[in-house]
Formats: sequence, structure tokens, C-alpha cells
Amino acid sequence: MQKGKIDVKTENIFPIIKKFLYSDHEIFLRELVSNAVDATQKLKTLASVGDYKGELGDLTIRISHDSKKKTLTISDRGIGMTADEIKKYINQIAFSSAEDFLEKYKDKVDAIIGHFGLGFYSSFMVADKVEIYTRSYQENAQAVKWSCDGSPRYTLEDIDKTESGTDIVLYISDDSKEFLEENRIFSLLKKYCKFLPVPIAFGTEKEWKDGKEVETGKPRIINNTEPAWTKKPADLKPDDYDNFYRELYPMNENPLFHIHLNVDYPFNLTGILYFPRLKSNVEIQKNKIQLYSNQVFVTDSVEGVVPEFLTLLHGVLDSPDIPLNVSRSYLQSDANVKKISSHITKKVSDRLMDIFKKDREEFEKKWDDLKIFIEYGMISDEKFYERAQKFALLKNTDGKYFTFDEYPKLIKENQTDKNKSLIYLYSTDREKQYSFIETAKSRGYDVLIMDGQLDIHFINHLETKFKDTRFVRVDADVIDKLILKEEKTDSMLPAEQQNDLAVCFRSVLPEKPMFNVTFEAMSENDNPVVITQSEFMRRMKDMSEMGGGMGFYGEMPDSFNLVVNTNHPLIIKLAGEKDKSAGKELEKISEKINPVKTAREELEKANRDKKDEEIAQADKDRLTDLDKKLGDLETKRENVLKKVALDNKLIRQLIDLALLSNNMLKGEDLSRFVKRSIDLM
Ligand code: ADP
Repeated sequence: MQKGKIDVKTENIFPIIKKFLYSDHEIFLRELVSNAVDATQKLKTLASVGDYKGELGDLTIRISHDSKKKTLTISDRGIGMTADEIKKYINQIAFSSAEDFLEKYKDKVDAIIGHFGLGFYSSFMVADKVEIYTRSYQENAQAVKWSCDGSPRYTLEDIDKTESGTDIVLYISDDSKEFLEENRIFSLLKKYCKFLPVPIAFGTEKEWKDGKEVETGKPRIINNTEPAWTKKPADLKPDDYDNFYRELYPMNENPLFHIHLNVDYPFNLTGILYFPRLKSNVEIQKNKIQLYSNQVFVTDSVEGVVPEFLTLLHGVLDSPDIPLNVSRSYLQSDANVKKISSHITKKVSDRLMDIFKKDREEFEKKWDDLKIFIEYGMISDEKFYERAQKFALLKNTDGKYFTFDEYPKLIKENQTDKNKSLIYLYSTDREKQYSFIETAKSRGYDVLIMDGQLDIHFINHLETKFKDTRFVRVDADVIDKLILKEEKTDSMLPAEQQNDLAVCFRSVLPEKPMFNVTFEAMSENDNPVVITQSEFMRRMKDMSEMGGGMGFYGEMPDSFNLVVNTNHPLIIKLAGEKDKSAGKELEKISEKINPVKTAREELEKANRDKKDEEIAQADKDRLTDLDKKLGDLETKRENVLKKVALDNKLIRQLIDLALLSNNMLKGEDLSRFVKRSIDLM
């Protein structure tokens, strides 16, 4: 038996491995199975070029555990190692310059594995002792056993072993007992080895027989050695893609479509990406893309490797050019990774363009599901915007779709305002804004439906892109002011009447939210009273709700406009009724108000050019006196108008109707409205 010391300068290398790699102990299994796969693949290659003449036989890799002996064994039938190779590969290579490396990367030890071939040694994270039983494929090779207890000392001795290949036996340490549990091992194999190219057996196949689970004795193969992405697209049918999707995500609905990636220059990348059918919550859909390196699972958090907006996609990416086990920041600065990321973006937009061109109808059918990706991409990725603006669609409230080129042509004539801005009208809720949509449509306007999760942001983004264009929500103003044109309708209701009615309306409005009462000369066919909310205020509030950093606006109370149509017959009727019931009384007060007003105006006129100290005290006193008189009379007048409003059910009814069509009439107010409606009938 030979004894030796592993060629490491630091005596304490194993404790360091254990400590630094603590968080990711489980990857030892991935490393060992990957080595077994490599050794098996190498033997196959040797056989295919004629350098290995023996029978290949069953090359299945076997994983077994023994709870009593506390061992976990990984056995392959690959090329094996000679004693010299063990010395060279296991004893020396793995740790050449390890000391310097550890010194330099103390804090980032996750970068060590993979990059520096610590693969095999990761077994010491979970084992007190590791043994290698191996026999090289070479004719008449002497089998050897290597053993190491975690100190840098090892033993090497000849053994009897008839078949070529390697058994790695781990004596699992007490603090890693979990790796002796069948379920734990099984789930780890399923996680990391599901698509490895050599069959891997663990335990035996179980079967349901007479209501019981029974062992069949057949080895249980845990992997699919030929996952779809490793095949040529030409050899796959649409069903194969769907089946593979289900293999990845058994619980998901079939995807919308897939993109098969296959690049070998300037980097290596294969994979299949799927556009899933997104349900409402985007967040929980993230991190579904699985990253592989030569079919070995690496991670399912692909940020950095694919652009942010594509993390919503599902599927697999496989690239030996993506460095394994390195930190996120390292990944993002890696040149290959950057190229891969922009390649994927390009592929995705090419594929979308392709479907759009080939089958617009099909593309439109999928649009509602696709929209969120495309908007997300267009907002966050300038290059993607450039490409996507050719196929991105806008949908109107009639369910018709338009490209960014088509839509302005459609609305140009009707929806250009007097400042030559093109006004895109949109609705965020077909039901709630129904009456506004109908009014706009009756004017010949087109209304877009923008009810997606990202639409508020998307609209802001499009406004920065489109020239001379504004987006205005269909309920942002009364129809005549939604798109301001030159012509103006005359008002049938004189200003004095408007002032009186304003007092009436104000006095019966609910206290909350805040309403600002205004009068507009609209068409007599428009509604008598309309409630609107300014586009600007509403957007600011929306943004602050979405965490856009507009906290100030979020705190503002909701404020709305109550717009009274001065040409509507009911409003004119209302003015008439007011005059009928209180006209005389109002007139009397007005008669008293007028001389006071005149006196006040004259007094002001006389003192207009004087400085405060030049005005006679008598005049000042008189002015105060007149102001008080005026105030008293006006209050009196207002009280008369308030009484009119209380007695006249029509006013509250008109307000309630406007609230109702904005979905703002609730609870007690709603039931009062119903009762009042019946009374009025
Ligand atoms: P890496 O796999 O990154 O090269 P490892 O430390 O895991 O680093 O392995 C070092 C070397 O030991 C491998 O390159 C290979 O030559 C050899 N080796 C490891 N495991 C096996 C095995 N199961 N069969 C044959 N050779 C192996």
C-alpha cells in the first residue's frame, strides 16, 4: 500500500471547503454524478473511434446508499483511472494553486467549484471519508483503491475489480445524515440529474398492485437521457414540444408557443423557451427557466443570463459557456453571458415577428396573453422596443387590433385636437367606463382598451416615443373637452343661472370625494351631469399606488369634476323650476344686493389710486360695512337656493345618476336613490 500526502500547501483545506461551501452542500451529488457521466461519455467516444475494443455493455450509473454503514455510493462503468491518473487528477490537479486561490477569494468561494475543478473534493463537504475503487478501461489495467479521511493524507492500494469504471464511496458525516435518506437523494437526483445523457439508476421501480405499492425489482431510472432541446428542431413535432413542457411543469397549461435555440458560434447555446399562458399574477411566474450546463442542472434563477423581461418565459437553456457557481455580479459582467442575453432577445423578437408576418390572425388571438411580455420588454429594453414596434398591437374596445403604424391613420382625421396633437383615447375598464366609451364612440372616436397590468407604464412610455401624441382616458373630461377642437357650442343657460345652479348642486353633493362643480355647453344629447377625473391627477395617483415614488399624489384626496351640461333640457327645466319656486324671493334679495354692490364699486373706484394710508378712515369703515351687508345678503340668497335644492328631488337624482354611471354610488346612497327613483315615477 502506498501512502501519500495530497499536494496541497494548506493543511486546513478541507475545513475551509466545509465552512465556505456550507450553504450549498447538496451540490456534491451533482459534481460526482457529472464526473461519472463524463467518464462514461469518454468511454463511448473511445469506443466509437476504435480506441476501446471491449464490450460497452450496460453503462447505467448507479447510486446506492447503505444506512447502516452510512455510505452513499456512485458507480459508473466509464473509463476509470489508473494509479497514475489518480495521482495526477485527484491528488494534484484539483488543488494546484488552491492556496492562492482561497486567499484571494475568501468571500466568494462559490466561484471555486466548477471553475477550479474542486468538483470531486466537494464530497468532503458531506463525508468524513471518501474511497475511490477504480479500474481503467485499458487492457490489463490494475484496479486501485484510493482512500482519504479528509486530512491531506491519502492511501492508494491495488485491489481486485473485474469491470472497468469507478465506484465513489462516501462515508457520510453525522451532520450530513440527510444525504442517507432515500427521499432526499431521490429529490436531489431529480433536481440536478433529470436530463443527464447517461441513464442513472437509484433504487427500484415501484408499482401499484392491489392497492399497494410494491417493488418490481427493476432499477428505477431517474433521468430522461434525450431531452427535447438536445434534438434537432426538424426531428421534433409540435406535440413533442408540448410534452416536454409538461415534463418540466406538470401542473401548467400548454404554452402559447416555443422557441428552439441552437447556437454554436460564437458561444454554445441550446434550449427551448416557452411563452406560457400567464395568469394574473406575474410575480409568481418568475424563475421558471432552468439553466443547464451540458444537461447538468445548474440553477433556476436566470437573472443576468436572460434579460429581465424574459424571465417570465419558461423552459430550459443549456450552455457550457455560462460559468457555473459564480456570483450574480460576475455573471452579468461576463462577455459570453452578455452575448447570450442579447442573442436570446433577438431570437424572441424574430420569432414573434415571424408569427406576426405569417399569420396575423393567429398572432392577434395570442396577443392578449403575449401582451404583458411584449410591453414589459418594450418598456425595459430599448433594442427590443425597436424590433417590437413593428408587431406590437393596440386593441380597441371593439376587440379590433392595430399596429403602431395603422392606428394613427385610423384616428388622425377625427382625433386631432386644435394644437395638432393626436389624442389616443383609452379605457381601463370597459364596464365602469361604459357610458364614456359609448359617448366617445357616438362622436366617431375610437377607444383603446388598456386594462393590462403594465398598461399605465406602457402608456407613459409610448408618450415619450410617439410624436405629437397624447393618451387621454375616456372619462378624463366631458366629451367636448376630451379632444379640444376649435368650434364651440353656445350655452343656453346664462351665467347668472349657472351660478345659482352651482350653489344648488354643491349643497346636495356628498362630502367625499371632493367635487368641483363646473358648467359646460355640451350637446343636448349628451348626459345632463357627468363626473370626470383629470387625466394628470389620476395618473399621478395610479403611479404612486404602483410604487412609482409619487408619494405626494398618493396622499391627495380623490377629487372629481361634476360637469353640468348647460344645454340639456333637464338642466334648463331645473333652472325654470328654481325660478318658479324661489324666483321672486331671489329677485327681492338681488334687488337689495345690487345697490350695495354698486355703492361698493364706486367707493373702490374713488380710492383706487390711493395708498392704504391715504384712504380716509370713514371710507374704510364704510367698505367694511358694505362687505358685511353683501356677505349677509349673499348668504341669505344661498340659503334660499339650498332650500330649493333640498326640495327639488331632480338635482340629487341627476347627481346620483352621474355617480351611478361611474360606479360611485354605493350603500345607503344607492338605496336612497332607488327609493327616490320610485317616488319620482
Ligand atoms: P473536474 O471534473 O472539474 O475535472 P474533479 O475534481 O471533479 O474535477 O475531477 C478531477 C478529475 O478526476 C477529472 O477530470 C477526471 O479526470 C477524474 N475523475 C473524477 N471522477 C472520475 C470518474 N468517476 N471516472 C473517471 N475519472 C474521474
